[in-house]
Amino acid sequence: MLGFSRPRMVVLGGGFAGLNCAALLSAALPDAGITIVSDDDRFTYRPAAIHIPFGSRPDAIARRIRPRTASRNVSLLKERAYEIEPSHKIVVTGGRVIDYDYLVVATGASSSPREIDGLTNNAINLWTLGDMVRLGQRLRRLGVDAGNGYRQEVVLTVAQGAQCAWPVYEIAFMLDTWLRRHRLRGLVGITLTTHEDAHLAQFGPAMHERVARELEERSIDAHLGGFIHRVRHDRVVLRSRRRLPFDLLIAMPPHVASTKYESLPSDERHFLRVDAATCAVREHPDVFAVGDCNELPLKQAVMAVAQASVVADNIVARTRGKPYNASFEPNSFCIMEELCTATYVQTPMAIPDDARRTVGLRDDARFPYRVGSGHLWRVANRAIGFWVPSRLSRLQPIRLGAVPSRGTDAMLRAAAMFSKPVAAERPIVEDPHARAA
Ligand SMILES: Cc1cc2nc3c(=O)[nH]c(=O)nc-3n(C[C@H](O)[C@H](O)[C@H](O)COP(=O)(O)OP(=O)(O)OC[C@H]3O[C@@H](n4cnc5c(N)ncnc54)[C@H](O)[C@@H]3O)c2cc1C
Repeated sequence: MLGFSRPRMVVLGGGFAGLNCAALLSAALPDAGITIVSDDDRFTYRPAAIHIPFGSRPDAIARRIRPRTASRNVSLLKERAYEIEPSHKIVVTGGRVIDYDYLVVATGASSSPREIDGLTNNAINLWTLGDMVRLGQRLRRLGVDAGNGYRQEVVLTVAQGAQCAWPVYEIAFMLDTWLRRHRLRGLVGITLTTHEDAHLAQFGPAMHERVARELEERSIDAHLGGFIHRVRHDRVVLRSRRRLPFDLLIAMPPHVASTKYESLPSDERHFLRVDAATCAVREHPDVFAVGDCNELPLKQAVMAVAQASVVADNIVARTRGKPYNASFEPNSFCIMEELCTATYVQTPMAIPDDARRTVGLRDDARFPYRVGSGHLWRVANRAIGFWVPSRLSRLQPIRLGAVPSRGTDAMLRAAAMFSKPVAAERPIVEDPHARAA
């Protein structure tokens, strides 16, 4: 049938994974009919959400999706998908039933703080833009209290079950810089706990060392292997029985898939089970799960974008009567914002056979492991934060294969040349009246 009629592609979700996949399909298959079904008609560039607590406007981070400007064969339905019936090749939304030949599920993850006793009511849990707005309000109050001479304790925690630790570290470093700039750091204690055995374990030992050094230089008290037993209004109790008192608790809660699809195989957190190379849902070769909604332990925008490319290439191959031949290589590159500097990490990751195990490092000369810091990475981060949303919201595709490792090596050298040593750039001042860095 596909060789003679217009193939129908349905993409669920208007985030990194869904929009990149739809954009690539649209460019490669101008005769296909592509329908994006998303419960939000804006694209949210989540990596920039960490700036909201420190003054950015939430509406600067979300852009309206405008498929028609770039791709005439794509339509957007603002609806929520509730169920998929793979045997009939249909998707059920709030108001309609949609047929597909190929289906791409890219409905992302959401947070589940209620899994931990007391976390919902006693913490600012990080995930949505609303969470970030609330954090900004709490930080301003904390600043006022500290300014009035009342010592404050902030605890940041990556809870067990959380699959995206990165923003917690960014917020910790940004908070430290922000307090120094307001000459309040000496009145605010900062503690960071994570359930992991290493800081940002997925990003390898050099990143752990870099982060551990930075935490120490900034006088942030850090605890590894800190599983939360319960949270009360003024303290976190770890399973080790250690108590961490706080005035403000900032948490990355456990994650679950945003939508539970009964008819597709999934794990206990409803993340869809996939073949790690092709992202095809197990037992359903015409259904793909891309980005945060699948079981792969790599909840990053960069992975969502890369998986979308693989899936689009494989769907295109199939419509041309060829087998699936593109396969996913988990090459991660991220820039950690710290307000006064930024850290770049480029990690060739290895996906474990059991998706629940920690991701490892892969030996790869084509995509070498690199970590480096410097102010120039902040400039690069800003540029990426403008470029990515402006492309994806207009359905213009992104190919990460084009990011050359030689270019990043040159950038690492340049950034290192222009960056001062961490300690000299930001002296640790316990006196609130001392000059801010
Ligand atoms: C504060 C923060 C900072 C981050 N920083 C970084 C970073 O620096 N680098 C990095 O690589 N990653 C970062 N991440 C992670 C990154 O944002 C996610 O990995 C990425 O958004 C995943 O993309 P996705 O397309 O799979 O899902 P999403 O971006 O979550 O998109 C899912 C889409 O599906 C829609 N949807 C959900 N359910 C349904 C449904 N049932 N029916 C229809 N539509 C639905 C949603 O509205 C949304 O449009 C950060 C995350 C947060 C929260």
